[in-house]
Amino acid sequence: MKIFITGIAGFIGMHTALALKAKGHEVSGIDDFNDFYNPRLKFDRMKKLREAGVGVLHGDIRHFPTMEWILVGMDAVIHLAAYANPRHAVENPHLYVDVNIKGTQCVIDAAEKAEVSKVVYASTSCVMYGNPIPWNEECTFHHHESPYGWTKFANECQFLQSKIPSTVGLRFFTVYGPWGRPDMALWSFADKIVANEVIELYNYGNMRRDFTYVDDIVQGILLTVETPMEKQHELFNIGRGEPVELSRFVTAISVSLGGRKVDVELVPAVPGDVPETWADTTKIQKLGYKPTTSIEEGVEKFISWYKTYHGIN
Ligand code: NAD
Repeated sequence: MKIFITGIAGFIGMHTALALKAKGHEVSGIDDFNDFYNPRLKFDRMKKLREAGVGVLHGDIRHFPTMEWILVGMDAVIHLAAYANPRHAVENPHLYVDVNIKGTQCVIDAAEKAEVSKVVYASTSCVMYGNPIPWNEECTFHHHESPYGWTKFANECQFLQSKIPSTVGLRFFTVYGPWGRPDMALWSFADKIVANEVIELYNYGNMRRDFTYVDDIVQGILLTVETPMEKQHELFNIGRGEPVELSRFVTAISVSLGGRKVDVELVPAVPGDVPETWADTTKIQKLGYKPTTSIEEGVEKFISWYKTYHGIN
């Protein structure tokens, strides 16, 4: 297949592109290399992509109306470009509306004009906040304090209303792994532990997350790209299906860092955070999805990469 990925120099974008390329697909994509986190990491990912024979364009999805020809001849588009941090979104709602909603509409318009038959796009577990857990795909949007959650719910509405023959929304659950995002807990906790600084645990540490290793997420993405769908719009949860206590997560990081001492401070919840996430993955299991990586194994793999990337012993 010829596949185009938006947000290709992002964390999930890079892993997805490399896995598709390894399976023999023709893969290219676009990224604007914005500075939401250090763009150097995105350029390092791009280097890895280019070495593997993946084409990377520097551009903004909001400019698709002037470059929709890029999508002509593509068998599928995987749309991952977005701003993706619920806390950051609370302070920057206009940015999230502009990129996540308007930018997504530009991708939809371009895919329609280029007659792309399938678009798989990133939603988030946050859209199900407020429903009883575990969350399944029938759970719909109640409310979410952060604009991030509702921009992603808007995306589900946008794709449902599009003229693209097959659209698939993927509700990812807290993704982590090598080449991950510095704004997410695993990386920032590791930074603090290495620097002997105190880690703040929000909601007084009472948090459980369905942490999902990036290879398991990629496994789910590939299944949904390669499997023909019955309906014009489908939604799938991709999670591990096991909520993990924050304390177990922190212990796994400490152990992987050679048993370093961790100083924690218990602090109140912050707007935009959800206390617990838990994926019901029954639906995607029917496509053959089977997550394989436990939190301890996944954190170990991240820390091993983190130490190499930063040159730490
Ligand atoms: P990421 O920030 O690493 O990747 C997103 C990429 O999109 C970045 O490289 C960024 O430069 C690019 N981008 C942003 N705006 C753009 C624009 N206007 N034009 C072109 N490129 C643009 O984040 P990620 O963790 O890889 O997330 C990928 C997708 O998955 C996002 O849509 C995110 O909302 C979703 N998601 C991620 C998680 C997670 O835990 N990582 C959970 C749920 C959903």
